[in-house]
Amino acid sequence: MALAHRSAVRSIERVVRETADPTPPQESLEQVAGLLRGGPALVVTGAGVSTESGIPDYRSPGGRLSKGRPMTYQEFAHSPAAVQRYWARAFVGIQQMRATTPNRAHFALVELERAGMISGIITQNVDGLHTKAGSRNVIALHGDMEHVVCLDCGFREERSLFDARLHSANPTYLQKVLVTDSMINPDGDVELPEEAVRDFTMVECTRCGGWRMKPDVVYFGENVPGERRQTAGEWLDASTSLVAVGTSLAVMSGYRLVLDARAAGKPVAVINGGPGRADQKAAVLWRTDVGDALDALLDALDL
Ligand SMILES: [Zn+2]
Repeated sequence: MALAHRSAVRSIERVVRETADPTPPQESLEQVAGLLRGGPALVVTGAGVSTESGIPDYRSPGGRLSKGRPMTYQEFAHSPAAVQRYWARAFVGIQQMRATTPNRAHFALVELERAGMISGIITQNVDGLHTKAGSRNVIALHGDMEHVVCLDCGFREERSLFDARLHSANPTYLQKVLVTDSMINPDGDVELPEEAVRDFTMVECTRCGGWRMKPDVVYFGENVPGERRQTAGEWLDASTSLVAVGTSLAVMSGYRLVLDARAAGKPVAVINGGPGRADQKAAVLWRTDVGDALDALLDALDL
């Protein structure tokens, strides 16, 4: 357990540095447009596509990690206090997460899919915004917010039902906790003071009475389910290139797709606002605002 926890913390705290010179903007636009015309390309997305929807990313200045690191699977699974803290914050956070709407980056990807230029989207985000926007082929690599699972008996509960139980146990909680937009995290929780966490009443598993109810998302220190990885691999096989959008690819599950694409001889393009782990492996390294870049691509492709 300690080893898995330490490894997860290393993954969270991985610092991505500048390792390659970005491709000039106009050249980037032309090359990525060329990859899409010769597509379909497989798209990998991260928190950078959702920042315009008001959800901060992880590794930018002011992002999630500047407020402290997310808890690891091992911390969650072994500590009732951690579970209490998570659900107090997530109970408030899900209200805000459900209120978020897709932005121009999500909609641009819908257009590209309709035009047959992308085969699908592998997203590392749990916010559900690609699907909300209308993209059809989406794999949420790290899961989504729609289910809760009991770590003791495996019972899987719909998030809406679980939230209804939390509401019953905490009828006046939301009114008491004042939340500002800046407090939301890409994980779907918010920052809360310790006394607010203490005031929260946690509920138990309806099947076994256990306390280890976990959102069905992949935590740091946990593996992506094999079936999901396999489908992502099949989509990559059916694609001519890989385009990473709004992600530093600091986490292995996303980075592995780049390694697989390169091993298969497929070109990789990166469209991101900051440096990333795969920069040296990218044929095109487009350092730009993600929304602007996708808008420019739609224009260049006459979409
Ligand atoms: Zn249970």
